[in-house]
Amino acid sequence: MMGGHPAAIVSSAARTNAGGTRSSETAAIELFGVTKVFGEGPSATPALGPLDLAIETGSFVSVVGPSGCGKSTLLRLIAGLEKPTSGRLRRYGDDLDGPSRKVGIVFQDHVLFPWASVLENVMLPAEVLSLPKAAALERAHWLLELTGLKDFASHKPHMLSGGMKQRAAFCRAVLADPQLLLLDEPFGALDALTREELSLELSRLWQDLGRTALLITHDLGEAILLGDRIIIMSDRPGRIRLDMRVDLPRPRDVNTMKDPRFIEIHQIARDLLFTRQRN
Ligand code: ADP
Repeated sequence: MMGGHPAAIVSSAARTNAGGTRSSETAAIELFGVTKVFGEGPSATPALGPLDLAIETGSFVSVVGPSGCGKSTLLRLIAGLEKPTSGRLRRYGDDLDGPSRKVGIVFQDHVLFPWASVLENVMLPAEVLSLPKAAALERAHWLLELTGLKDFASHKPHMLSGGMKQRAAFCRAVLADPQLLLLDEPFGALDALTREELSLELSRLWQDLGRTALLITHDLGEAILLGDRIIIMSDRPGRIRLDMRVDLPRPRDVNTMKDPRFIEIHQIARDLLFTRQRN
């Protein structure tokens, strides 16, 4: 996974993207009739589903929905951190059985270790997954450069801004070059300007890395700006209310939000989010 120069990973992925043929016969993620209920008896909380969903390899899918509708539960199921109450999940054609090194996760809370430097934090998966040290170190430096953190490699997290901490968390999540990147409200704790800037940066990085990504967010604009596809969830237990392709060209930038098609998609999804359904 870590072999070769890190840039080699980028150029081959970029070629795939440039050709516009990102698909593969095997979906990255498939859900069949998945439900999740927390607890039992009268205090049981149906959190999700039933849900059927397939996520194309190489695509960026954004999931939006009201608070408490089961978005994080969906992400945790896909990450293998939770088991479904019923139904089946497959990752790259295989039945899912727990967490995998092929999956990288970025949470809202960056969870960087305060006593370790930025570089040491980014290198953490190398230790945990026993990756070849030299190649991992080369990739870590490359990622820090890519995300503008090169000069902060030896800084401790408390010396970084919120946006920089999230960049470092992103570097750590992709150090092992995961096939699938799961993003759970990664910009949730940031101010609006940093949030916009960072989401556009992530969009570019994702294109360079050429991996499959699933973003959970309550921010509709962010979902559309980043996604190839947006999925709008219902109130709890979360089900799919809208599954829509975002046919906006890439690379995207701040002007994308002024594109009539962006505004149209935003309007359709917003109307749906505001007309809350009864389950
Ligand atoms: P969202 O991410 O959309 O805000 P969550 O997936 O976090 O929603 O939660 C969906 C529902 O499941 C909520 O009602 C929440 O209280 C409940 N829930 C989530 N995790 C647990 C848990 N570990 N135990 C019990 N209930 C939970």
